[in-house]
Amino acid sequence: MSYQYDLFVIGAGSGGVRAARMSARFGARVAIAEDRYLGGTCVNAGCIPKKLLVYAAHYAEDFEDARAFGWSGINPEFDWRTLVANKDQEIRRLNGIYRNLLQTAGVEVINGRAVLQDPHTVMVGDRSYTAERILIATGGRPYLPDIPGKEHVITSDAAFHLEQLPKQIIIVGGGYIAVEFAGIFNGLGVETTLLYRGELFLRGFDAETRHFLAEQIRKKGIKLLFNTNLTQVRKAGLEYAVRTTTGEELPADAIMYATGRVPNIENMGIAELGLVLNKKGALVVNADYQTSSPTIYAIGDVTDRYNLTPVATAEGTTFARNQFSTQALRVDYHNIPTCIFSQPNMAMVGLTEEQAREQNLDPVIYKTTFTPLKHTLTKNPEKTFMKLIVDRATDRVLGAHMVGAEAGEIIQGIAIALNTGVTKAQFDATIGIHPTLAEEFVTMREPAAP
Ligand code: NDP
Repeated sequence: MSYQYDLFVIGAGSGGVRAARMSARFGARVAIAEDRYLGGTCVNAGCIPKKLLVYAAHYAEDFEDARAFGWSGINPEFDWRTLVANKDQEIRRLNGIYRNLLQTAGVEVINGRAVLQDPHTVMVGDRSYTAERILIATGGRPYLPDIPGKEHVITSDAAFHLEQLPKQIIIVGGGYIAVEFAGIFNGLGVETTLLYRGELFLRGFDAETRHFLAEQIRKKGIKLLFNTNLTQVRKAGLEYAVRTTTGEELPADAIMYATGRVPNIENMGIAELGLVLNKKGALVVNADYQTSSPTIYAIGDVTDRYNLTPVATAEGTTFARNQFSTQALRVDYHNIPTCIFSQPNMAMVGLTEEQAREQNLDPVIYKTTFTPLKHTLTKNPEKTFMKLIVDRATDRVLGAHMVGAEAGEIIQGIAIALNTGVTKAQFDATIGIHPTLAEEFVTMREPAAP
């Protein structure tokens, strides 16, 4: 049987675009369908615009810190609309780049919603397309629990396009998005409260590091209410009133939910074809990204495993190589570094102290807390924290954690070392770059008291 395409990709986000481009480079005939925006969540409503807003927010304390370095006459005014317009212009540029990349690679770009008809056929509008393989890379979208007054709340999607900056915002959730947006709004001068239902936000990350971040964030002026959830939102004049599980009623003129994301699988024929989903509604795939229908594959957030852009692109690369080249590959899911772009950043790679103990390893802990050189002159109370988890038996560094300026940049380098099985002795033998924050990672000599 001959098909129009070797590969039909549904979803032009990070994973889908990478898979489509690379497959085409390997000689495959490829089409990609997208019904929203090229570049997916990362480019349009995620990593990229978020990081631009993080930069914007950070200026507030940069201006303040500058006074200690002799700068005066600083009286800046912030205009939200200018920021949103500039960010949107950059996103449009990126959308164009994505289109060019796909077209240059010889991928046919189809605008519209793709609906699976059978294991080799997809409909977009009233046109049908056949392909030997179909790849689903439709990502995820914000999850909003059912709460009274839900119509009054926004998610990160809308937060990127607010008409105006609120004066007071309540953010619900304790994951990446809640913590990052709390830092953004607070930096931009919004009175910010974060409600998290558990004891301490960022569940799953290193406990001591989370505590340290909470302390830094509180110092920046964000109100952190843990063991607290929202029970109801109601309109109160021009604002909203938020009722909490602790019986408080809090005013706000915006309420943002950041309570996780769910896979995008609706109305695309997945249920009709009977593809196997897990409890969270994500597509179940094997090690080759094959769904329960052997010619249909899935990568990225729609499989809800490691919902990170670089993982989706790695899966796209791997899929393309395995299907259309002779260079078989497997993604190494160990030691995936990650960063929460809070203010300051929190980044990590490898095991947390808790995970090392759960795995019955005997971890030796090295840690340091210090005032960054920059803030020896300023009144900024921000401190930096670093922690290494080392296996006593082998001296291998199992995990590295940091809260501090540019922690994401620093941990990225350390992730390379961890992937090569670096030992603490090799950290110690590495000469530092002085004066940097990062050099502290190679100068922690004494283990912390158990
Ligand atoms: P996360 O899964 O990280 O966090 C969800 C948060 O919402 C948790 O704190 C969770 O609490 C809480 N929550 C879930 N359901 C409810 C509920 N019904 N009521 C109250 N609270 C609830 O999701 P995010 O939305 O923050 O981010 C989605 C994903 O996007 C992340 O997992 C990450 O993979 C990715 N991402 C990555 C970024 C980066 O790399 N910098 C940035 C942004 C997103 P509990 O802990 O108790 O379950």
